[in-house]
Amino acid sequence: MILLKSQTETMILTPATIIEKIQHHVCCLECGAPVGTIDHLPEIAASREDGIDYVTWGPWYCDKCGASIQGQTYTDGRTLVRPGKNRKEERAVLLRYSTPMADTFYLVVKGMRFHPSESEEEERKHDRYFYEEHTCPINYLRDTLGVILGSPGDWDEDPHGLFEYVGSVPLKGNESVLGDGCRSITGTAEEVLQLFGMEKL
Ligand SMILES: [Zn+2]
Repeated sequence: MILLKSQTETMILTPATIIEKIQHHVCCLECGAPVGTIDHLPEIAASREDGIDYVTWGPWYCDKCGASIQGQTYTDGRTLVRPGKNRKEERAVLLRYSTPMADTFYLVVKGMRFHPSESEEEERKHDRYFYEEHTCPINYLRDTLGVILGSPGDWDEDPHGLFEYVGSVPLKGNESVLGDGCRSITGTAEEVLQLFGMEKL
């Protein structure tokens, strides 16, 4: 720690370059919070109305109140909006890693439902299909809210040592950027593991 402090003291500070980055957000019809950016939309406008290109979007869900909106953005700068049919409710979802091991490994992840919703039984059916069949684990691992490991009477909600550190590599060039800005490493399982020097599999 002492070494770090002396290094900091000898660093020379120079004026930073500051830029202003403006984004245009369409706002929630119920609470006014920004819901989504529209700056990129005119570039992908593929429909045409009265000689003006436009793109339809939505439903987009408000992170603040859960209301939804959908609309159209035109290349002449206009954006028209209307309320969507459903609402979003953020939820915590418990997932159990199903493997024959002495301890049970649970994940609590961020999930959601859209209201008005169907019966509880139907919702559970949709959730089960979504988590067990439809979605890749990468989509909920990044929304992890908690980790639980153990067995009845011996639970650990802070299981240090659950994973063994294998190694790290620079991400540059190895990842693709998903639609929501999250990054995903690319390649087959063998290619990805070989990135970390694990060549004999
Ligand atoms: Zn809202």
